Amino acid sequence: MIDQFCIFERGGTVLWCRTYEAIKGDPVAVLVRSVLLEDRLSQTEMSIENYTLQWTLENQLGLIFVVIFQRQLPPAYTGDLLDLVRDHFVRNEVARTGLINATADFDQFSSSFDRLLNIAERRAADSAPKQSRTAPTRPMKKENRNQISFEKEKKKTGHIVQKSSAGDADTATADDDIINRNREAFLRARGSKKVGSNISSRARSKPGTSDVSTTSAVPRKKIMRTGNKATRIDEAALDFSVGKLTDEADADGQAQKFREQYLDGERNKAFDEILDSDEEENIEGGGEDIDDDNYGSKSFKSSQPSGGLFSYFKGLAGLRSLTRADLKPVMDKFRDELVAKNVAKDIADKLMESVMASLEGKTMESMTSVSTMVRKALEDALTRVLTPRQSTDILAEIAAKKGKGRPYIITFCGVNGVGKSTSLAKTCFYLLNHGHKVMIAACDTFRAGAVEQLRTHVKCLGRGVELFDRGYGKDAAAVAADAIRRAKELQYDVVLVDTAGRMQDNEPLMRALSKLVEVNRPDRLFFVGEALVGNDAVDQLTKFNAALTDHQSSARPRLIDGIVLTKFDTIDDKVGAAVSMVYTTGQPIIFIGIGQTYMDLRKLNTKSLVKALLKL
Ligand code: GDP
Repeated sequence: MIDQFCIFERGGTVLWCRTYEAIKGDPVAVLVRSVLLEDRLSQTEMSIENYTLQWTLENQLGLIFVVIFQRQLPPAYTGDLLDLVRDHFVRNEVARTGLINATADFDQFSSSFDRLLNIAERRAADSAPKQSRTAPTRPMKKENRNQISFEKEKKKTGHIVQKSSAGDADTATADDDIINRNREAFLRARGSKKVGSNISSRARSKPGTSDVSTTSAVPRKKIMRTGNKATRIDEAALDFSVGKLTDEADADGQAQKFREQYLDGERNKAFDEILDSDEEENIEGGGEDIDDDNYGSKSFKSSQPSGGLFSYFKGLAGLRSLTRADLKPVMDKFRDELVAKNVAKDIADKLMESVMASLEGKTMESMTSVSTMVRKALEDALTRVLTPRQSTDILAEIAAKKGKGRPYIITFCGVNGVGKSTSLAKTCFYLLNHGHKVMIAACDTFRAGAVEQLRTHVKCLGRGVELFDRGYGKDAAAVAADAIRRAKELQYDVVLVDTAGRMQDNEPLMRALSKLVEVNRPDRLFFVGEALVGNDAVDQLTKFNAALTDHQSSARPRLIDGIVLTKFDTIDDKVGAAVSMVYTTGQPIIFIGIGQTYMDLRKLNTKSLVKALLKL
């Protein structure tokens, strides 16, 4: 038995949804956040609390079909049902409604769905071994069942054809020509609009219609309505553009604004030169040198010639739609490039599978469009992974906390020698230049010389910063607590907590870090990692988070929620660790270090990084 079946566009519009059991929580929104936005499209199933979600894509039209059922009671027919519904929907509903019509009404599809569910259930029952116990199927409500046999439908429409599995006489299968004709009509009607901007344009065109959220100045929030009608789910979660939409500007404008706000960040006069990211550049062109991707004067450079990969795609021109076999060799090559650029192997695999899943079935129209589509898909996937989904603006967070009693606390953790203390000092310099009073808490009470190193930094940093230390051998959590108390008394704005470097497998030290975090509840827990690492980055982060989870007693343990990536100046174009780290944690890169001076701190420019990764 299934609990829910939904059909929605990748842009966020729920076209049709049937709910059999009230769903607890919002598993579809979780699916979108943790699979679609993080580019794990190659997955086709995931479990969220008590539910399992299974889905299939229709890439050409950008549609996603999701079935939700109880994890403990997996019906045998869900895969079949997804295929049946997808094929039927594309064949019939797309042609009937044109999909882009804001008032498109999919109520009629409900009876078709009942039939398809019937078929899938029957086929599963027929193919189940007589003795075996299949999951019980929920009896359908009478009104939801359409008893017209599928044979009748076949006669009526003439569109139902055989599925490839031999001997399955009443199988409804894809009629390729009809599906392709409908796809073409749909794509013609949709024009060149991006799927991601489709929601907003649809929404704006018909404010007040039941299918569309309002377009007031308040950002629109979609609420999933259940039942047979076409409905919507949380638009914010489904928005594939980088910023949230308002009615003031179009999606592209908002995305640009978002980038400026969160990626290029707050600009302080003294810091214009220091933290200013490079110009956003169009990476479509490919082939250009990337020397102008300047993180200051120290940029990562590509020494490799372009070409090779995309020429393969030219050979695919004229194919009606891309298959996995067509794409595999190219994807393998691209994966190797990602690995060569330091993306962890596992993550490169997952990412390429996701890109593959988003391209499979797409029609390649011309030689030009092949390379453009492939490049675009890769660019989109990497951009989605790297684009922060929450604010990275710590200045705004500090400002919001100011005068509310407790200073803003950032704890820095990581393995030895990665640049924790240096990054802490750089961050301090950044905050001092923004007018904040900073206390540094010397909580590396383990490594000889750690306190003295911080004392030297404090001297160099000058006014506005104070060191709080209790020497060596003390409980780091207690030292941090004392420092925070003192900072509160003296009305410091920020406390930066330095911690001892520790290997991810060192249990006693991981336990001590967990205690420090649990006792002192920092506003941010930054993981400092080197940009040089490949697979090890994933191992470090996974184990840090696992240990933090294990050693905190809270049901909601504090985990790493920001990354500082150091030594970017030493890696040439091997920028892949950034992808691995963000993919592993889902947490943003707050700063990158590009040298040993206090000024060598930057915010990540996603576009330049993606460009460097795509430089083949
Ligand atoms: P910790 O043990 O993690 O606290 O590491 P430190 O802060 O002591 O830094 C270790 C070394 O890395 C020092 O020599 C720093 O100067 C150097 N370092 C830190 N950040 C960067 C960076 O962004 N680029 C370069 N090239 N070196 C860095």
